[in-house]
Amino acid sequence: MTTEHHRLNAPSATPPRIQALSLGAGVQSSALLLMSAHGLLPRLDYAAFADTGWERPETYAALDWLENEVAKPAGIEIVRLRAGDIRRDALDPNSRFSTMPMFIRNPNGSKGMLRRQCTSTYKIKILLAEARRRLGAEVFDDGRIGRVKRSLSLSMWVGISSDEFHRAKDSGVKYAVNEFPLLQLGLTRADTQAYLDQHGFAAVSKSACVGCPYTSNAGWRNLRDNHPVQWDEAVEFDRAIRAGNARANANGRPLLGQAFLHPSLLPLDQAPIDAPPKRRHLRLVGADEAVDWEDGDPDGCSPWACRTGRPEQPAGISEVAA
Ligand code: SF4
Repeated sequence: MTTEHHRLNAPSATPPRIQALSLGAGVQSSALLLMSAHGLLPRLDYAAFADTGWERPETYAALDWLENEVAKPAGIEIVRLRAGDIRRDALDPNSRFSTMPMFIRNPNGSKGMLRRQCTSTYKIKILLAEARRRLGAEVFDDGRIGRVKRSLSLSMWVGISSDEFHRAKDSGVKYAVNEFPLLQLGLTRADTQAYLDQHGFAAVSKSACVGCPYTSNAGWRNLRDNHPVQWDEAVEFDRAIRAGNARANANGRPLLGQAFLHPSLLPLDQAPIDAPPKRRHLRLVGADEAVDWEDGDPDGCSPWACRTGRPEQPAGISEVAA
């Protein structure tokens, strides 16, 4: 690891932009926080963690460690943002509609999957709202945050390593410019992990919701064997979603078919999560990459960089054939 020799210059925009980090408490974004705290990268003004309300215990523990051991001593603010509670909202008949990418058994017996909108709803939108607030946008009485003056923008670091450059995406708005310091430094995921190891932060897990349908079999086993409370929550949630809820789709109509957390379309506590006879893959319609259901995505759910499943749709929800 040679990060000491790769100090980045400040972003070129003048006057100096607000420097933000999209912090997921996984390997790459945690490394960016450490590098800023250690002076290898420019000083962050804040790091924002978008909390879905049902993150894994390891994620909250990692976040606490980062805040107390890294951010506070360096004078970097960590802000925890919440747009709701993804578990409660999915079961609430008064909620807008379910946004999680649940597996569906259609009425004709075919398999499908609800299109993922949760990353946008519970992560990207609130990260951007916080960016607008930091840029001086008006905050209304109901909590909504207004527009940003055209000339203003901030820089948002996103943790993408050089071996995963294809995951780098624009923010989609002019006032938040996504930047990828690990790409600029040419650091791979292994480099990044080595850097964390050197600084006593070896046990980083990927950030994801406890009941995320993208969870791999290894992830489900970890939950069952090491986190029985969260496993029971997921099993109970899986039972509760079988018929969707009273407003299961964007049109407010009940779900057609049955919803499951596991791609086997079996109740989670009966699903074949133990040592499958062979590695199985499921390719979603239109997805760039298949999800490995044994090992899963090493990085979990990341705003702007989630590589699991089909890209999000701006509105609506529908079943797709698997
Ligand atoms: S971890 Fe899964 S359920 Fe949670 S926001 Fe990301 S894609 Fe959605």
